[in-house]
Amino acid sequence: MLQIKSFTFNPFQENTYLLYDESLQAVLIDPGCHTAAERKEVTEFIQGNNLKPTLLLNTHCHIDHVLGNEWVKNTYNIPLLIHRLDLPVLKSVEAYASNYGFHGYSGVEPDGFLEEGEFISVGSEKLKVIFVPGHAPGHVVFYHAESHLAIGGDTLFRGSIGRTDLPGGDHQLLLNKIKSELFTLPDQTVIYPGHGPETTIAYEKSNNPFVGKNARY
Ligand SMILES: [Zn+2]
Ligand SMILES: [Zn+2]
Repeated sequence: MLQIKSFTFNPFQENTYLLYDESLQAVLIDPGCHTAAERKEVTEFIQGNNLKPTLLLNTHCHIDHVLGNEWVKNTYNIPLLIHRLDLPVLKSVEAYASNYGFHGYSGVEPDGFLEEGEFISVGSEKLKVIFVPGHAPGHVVFYHAESHLAIGGDTLFRGSIGRTDLPGGDHQLLLNKIKSELFTLPDQTVIYPGHGPETTIAYEKSNNPFVGKNARY
């Protein structure tokens, strides 16, 4: 059975997720931890549960989701996987991090690339990689069918969607991809987003003002 632990980090209130199963192998997704206190929360949870991190994944590479990449890689010596089309997004972070007040950020290279439709192992569980660009050019969502959950990054939020005014953003593409890639998942699927509380596909189909049945935008 897949277990999920969420943390909320940095001034962007970004949700970092840790997924693991009975084997205690764990995958870290979008580590936004920047301060020593935030990083201690992660290490204490991992130690306290005897978890063994095996992989680091990014749904996409905006600054709030990658602040802890280097630290995670160095602490746990695990590979970082991203979608190839977000490589320029990742590489650009170093140039603007200090403008946002994040001093001491140094970028890391990914160790490999995520392919649309492939499966990523968390112990004996499998996450499917779903490609949902629009908020960022190489944005992916990690879907676990058996437990009806997906790590959505900044695609779909409770009552909202990811902004598309950043470099590489494409509003119409995001709307289309949410409808074709996420709204085709079972209604009970719980979306764990990059910001804010969880939601479900059913709730967003009914209520989301951008992509729901009474969309106003
Ligand atoms: Zn983002
Ligand atoms: Zn974000």
